[in-house]
Amino acid sequence: MASNSDNPAGADRPVVTRFAPSPTGFLHIGNARTGLFSWLYARHHGGKALLRIEDTDKKRSTQEAIDVILDGLEWLGLEFDGEPVYQSQRADRHAEVAMKLLDAGQAYKCFATPEELAEMREQQRAAKQPMRYDGRWRDRDPSEAPEGAPFVVRIKTPEGGETVIEDAVQGRVKVDNREIDDFILLRADGSPTYMLAVVVDDMDMGCTHIIRGDDHLNNAFRQLQVIRAMQGIEDGWDEPVYAHIPLIHGNDGAKLSKRHGALGVRDYREMGILPETLFNYLLRLGWGHGDKEEFTREEAIALFDLAGVNKGPSRFDMKKLLNMNGNYIRQADDARLAAIAAKQIGPQADVDLLTKAMPVLKTRARDMNELADGAAFLFKTRPLEMTEKAASLLDDEARARLSQISARLQGESDWTIEALEANLKAYAEELELGLGKLAQPLRAALTGQTTSPGIFDVLVLLGKEESLARIDAQAQTSTASVNETG
Ligand code: GLU
Repeated sequence: MASNSDNPAGADRPVVTRFAPSPTGFLHIGNARTGLFSWLYARHHGGKALLRIEDTDKKRSTQEAIDVILDGLEWLGLEFDGEPVYQSQRADRHAEVAMKLLDAGQAYKCFATPEELAEMREQQRAAKQPMRYDGRWRDRDPSEAPEGAPFVVRIKTPEGGETVIEDAVQGRVKVDNREIDDFILLRADGSPTYMLAVVVDDMDMGCTHIIRGDDHLNNAFRQLQVIRAMQGIEDGWDEPVYAHIPLIHGNDGAKLSKRHGALGVRDYREMGILPETLFNYLLRLGWGHGDKEEFTREEAIALFDLAGVNKGPSRFDMKKLLNMNGNYIRQADDARLAAIAAKQIGPQADVDLLTKAMPVLKTRARDMNELADGAAFLFKTRPLEMTEKAASLLDDEARARLSQISARLQGESDWTIEALEANLKAYAEELELGLGKLAQPLRAALTGQTTSPGIFDVLVLLGKEESLARIDAQAQTSTASVNETG
């Protein structure tokens, strides 16, 4: 049973959360984590997880930038309820709210000119006062403005007292109301400000919980003023529960930025991280449940709560992510991994063979690119391209041994790891050589590389015919020329 302990609003209302990314060209992993937390919270409480695309910046909000967000969420398996809400399509409603506030005397027209405001700020700067709008039109009659002068609509915020938020993560936070100036709701061209749009959308979407990055905590104090001012005007403006999640920092303790490496969900996908890894990593980055490290989707839904969210910033640790990815790769279904690897390898890849090889391949890889690289030998065509290191192993002595190995393996009817191992061990003993010494040139001949899965696994995966053909291709190079001249 889901608990309501951190759901004060949920006593009488079903939980509705929202994730509200702005299209920027990529889905920042910090944002993705906020989305994950919002989604998990709603799922945990059997509520609704809504998605709102904050696409009011027309230049940045291209379809491509929006698709990056939608693709990233889909890849992470975060399915939101209903269609996404597009903020840009709701400008009329935002303006309507501003007009209602104006009519009710909760907002007012401000005719201050840009020059006037610049001067006001300059004076505040000189007097070392905080820079905020001084309310000069708050009590003035609009008729005092010149005929047809442009105006903005500003909210009337309380002049005294304080605004308190019982944040579900940060605890009790408050500001002196004098710090909240009469901010703009509608610009002179009639377009809504971000501060207005966010809160109107949150309320119209019926959000009970606003879970987002703590860089928005200051906005919450302002957005609350709009909510409170609207309470006497329209129904449905109930204060939501706020939960402001500390940001992610890099391993040096500074706020995560480009210089720390990849920031976008898509980057991690391209690095060969599995979606379940990133899901779990982002979950654990800032939330914990005892010392449990890995959660299935179902466990995460069953256990997620806001009480478990850390109050301090979390540190992104690439090494930990890669180790976790290795664990998830080893647990993942072979056919699924084979399908992902096949895409990376290209049309020559054979999914069935990859699936068969997967138990061997996946024990080594920490990401899907490494895994695909490790599998590539299976699909090489003869003559194999050799790495420089591999080529250097194939001197005349080694090639002569490969001829011997070929002859022995030709007669091997039991093409299994055990039989092949017994066979080559016997040969190594005859030569009074370690098996490793024998395996090195053999690996070079079979894979063109000096690293690969275990040599007997390689032989079995390639099969007798292909193995012998690859060995012979290397073994014959020197002997063939001897035969021809002899
Ligand atoms: N669109 C904002 C962002 O991407 C989030 C706004 C909010 O969550 O209130 O940072």
